[in-house]
Amino acid sequence: MTLDKNWFSEQHADAGSAFSLKIKKKLHEEQTPFQHIEIYDTETFGKLMVIDGCYMVTSRENFIYHEMMAHPALFTHPDPKKVLIIGGGDCGTLREVLKHRDVNQAWQVDIDEAVTRLSEKYFPELCVSNGDGRAELLFEDGIKWIQESEPGSLDIIIVDSTDPVGLAKGLFGEAFYRSCFHALDADGILVHQSESPLYHPKLLKSMHKAMHKAGFNATKTHHFPQPSYPSGWWSATMACRENTGLDGFREDDVRNKIFKTRYYNADMHKAALAQPEFCKEAGLG
Ligand code: SAM
Repeated sequence: MTLDKNWFSEQHADAGSAFSLKIKKKLHEEQTPFQHIEIYDTETFGKLMVIDGCYMVTSRENFIYHEMMAHPALFTHPDPKKVLIIGGGDCGTLREVLKHRDVNQAWQVDIDEAVTRLSEKYFPELCVSNGDGRAELLFEDGIKWIQESEPGSLDIIIVDSTDPVGLAKGLFGEAFYRSCFHALDADGILVHQSESPLYHPKLLKSMHKAMHKAGFNATKTHHFPQPSYPSGWWSATMACRENTGLDGFREDDVRNKIFKTRYYNADMHKAALAQPEFCKEAGLG
């Protein structure tokens, strides 16, 4: 079956697959100095943001990704107070981070201000915490920002980046992870979106290797579904500096949390850390 012009498809050439959504209307399109951004209204997934031809966010299912980028790392750290988000311009991860009352400062450093301005217009529900006094939204290259940050000054670094091409390529390497290592304190945790274990196993393996080479003590990938991303099976990889292990978490605090989530809870945290046989065999844990 061929799809008519009312569908948006992201094709995954190497995997010989595509994911398509039926579109009601194109709402916006622009070429920023950094990337090409499109916003659509879809038939069944609400609004859709596309960057350089790749799905970034849909209204219907972004909660899974944003919750899993924030809460596993924040509930693994014993007492996270200072959180940096690199990328994340749609502001959904920031919203989740600021649900933690004990966080007293959160910086979001995205290179492209247009992503945030468009998100404020088309995904206002993701931007409800942008005015929180603890939040600082900066529009700079995250690689430069982390290089210049004070050693030991951060508890959590969340890398909510685009795919490892173009602007985001330097976010996936050992040099960048080394800068993150130095910016974190001894309990510190880095978490980076690590693409699809099914489609991108080589990348995932190279991320673990680069994190270890950068000095991190342990690494661990957690898994979750993300229907609009390539293969629908997505992951994030945590790395801890010195003191904090990645297998346990503050389970009682999760069970007693006073904020609402739609996907994340203590059981989903445990389930996400379980490693499928395929990942164990390929060394992708
Ligand atoms: N959830 C998405 C995914 O996994 O496909 C990521 C969404 S978020 C909108 C990605 C953001 O990373 C974009 O807004 C982009 O501008 C930002 N970005 C890419 N490279 C960057 C860099 N070097 N420094 C800061 N932000 C960067």
